[in-house]
Amino acid sequence: MNHEVIDGIPVLWAPAPGPLEAALVFGCGARDETFRTLGVTHLVEHLAMSTLPRLHHDHNASVDLTVTEFTCSGRPEQVVEYLAGVCAALGDLPLDRIDQEAGVLAAEGGRAADPQTAELLSHRYGVQGLGLASYSGPGADRITVEAVRDAAARHFHAGNAVLVLTGPPPEGLRLPLPAGTRPDRSTAQPVLLDTPSWREEDVPGPGLALHGDVNDFALFLAVKVLVHRLRETARHRHGLSYDVSEGAALAGRSSGERVIGLDAREGQEQRVTELLWEEALRLAREGVTEEELAEEREGLREIWTDPRAVVHELSHAAAALLFGEEYQDVAARTAALAAVTPEQARQAVADALRTALLVVPCDVEAALVQPDGSPLPRHRCVAHTELPSDGQVFRPGLADRLRFSAARRARLVVTGTGVWAREPDGALHHVPFDEVVAVEVRGPGRVVFGRDTCFVPVLPDLFAGLGPAVRAIDAAVPAELVYHASALRPAD
Ligand SMILES: [Zn+2]
Repeated sequence: MNHEVIDGIPVLWAPAPGPLEAALVFGCGARDETFRTLGVTHLVEHLAMSTLPRLHHDHNASVDLTVTEFTCSGRPEQVVEYLAGVCAALGDLPLDRIDQEAGVLAAEGGRAADPQTAELLSHRYGVQGLGLASYSGPGADRITVEAVRDAAARHFHAGNAVLVLTGPPPEGLRLPLPAGTRPDRSTAQPVLLDTPSWREEDVPGPGLALHGDVNDFALFLAVKVLVHRLRETARHRHGLSYDVSEGAALAGRSSGERVIGLDAREGQEQRVTELLWEEALRLAREGVTEEELAEEREGLREIWTDPRAVVHELSHAAAALLFGEEYQDVAARTAALAAVTPEQARQAVADALRTALLVVPCDVEAALVQPDGSPLPRHRCVAHTELPSDGQVFRPGLADRLRFSAARRARLVVTGTGVWAREPDGALHHVPFDEVVAVEVRGPGRVVFGRDTCFVPVLPDLFAGLGPAVRAIDAAVPAELVYHASALRPAD
């Protein structure tokens, strides 16, 4: 791999077959946003791309949780022109196009992670950083021009960019980005939840999150073996599932999450959930064989040495550079994999299961036990069962209480420190005012979103006489966290 610097930007290149490929990688993604500004990175990307003339060579741009990439392939002069256009646009965004591009984003509806990974990251990290993955936020039409300017200035500059190329930098290549300082990535995002639990979400199948060192090759290989075993049992043996997926998310230097997700044939969600958990426990208990590790090493070697993977390998090195991680090349990774013993792989999963999070589709009852024989607890927003006695109490309207016996149990309580709600089934929710990440205004009502993924709807079709509750919320929450519900999507 060759290193150069052009206009203050590191350029990593290595030869590969085919037309010249380029990726301009920025060290920013959805994890750098807040609930209030969710989607702003994607909006910056769209605004920049909207300035380009019609191009006939391959080109694209994408935003995931951690990086934003502008990619293209073509003749060297096409690559030069594309990169110059992208850089010029990022330094001078067409802010008058925000409304149109917000509409495009709403139509695109892209997410930074698959559903299970997204939900598990939110459970683990709360509604901040990586945990924003499962949220769509206020909506693209609620992103302010100040937020766009701020995101562009903080992240889209020469200090936060690396260019990768599958050949030497072509004649005339310039990267005219504004100067800037690389964001500090020296500390990992702390987890909000490190005790094992399960919960229901709107997901197509179960998912399991294992927290740990994402550069730990023992855990990496063990998860590969687990995925293969699940594919064998859930798909090939029982025909319950089509796809077993695996993903990883980086929370900071080495620390992060490995996620395994399965989809499930309708009606088989419960069984697929049990299979996932039982196979993970069995691996932690009985371990893996040397043959299984050898199979996974061989599979990885095949992927890593494929000549078509050069641009991905370079992007991997670019991300390491941007996040202050040590880049390990294919030879180093292959050697690290070779050193992993079956006992290390078993131990890595056993360790990670102590903080495992499980997400299951709605209506699955996950009656599962942990390795020590105790039940895997269900996540509850509030551990105790009593509402506070020192607040203003709101109940459903009289007509609802007469018609629906369940409505008689529903309550909203507003105290000096936060909002509480009891659902008809007795489940409690609570958002302290100092943990509010956003308040959505829906006509005379409000929805209060908390940092730990709990939210409380303060809406007139649920509770009567809400005026004092709404006034208390508006007085307690900073104005910059309050927004009016998006006009781009139907209210739910
Ligand atoms: Zn809740």
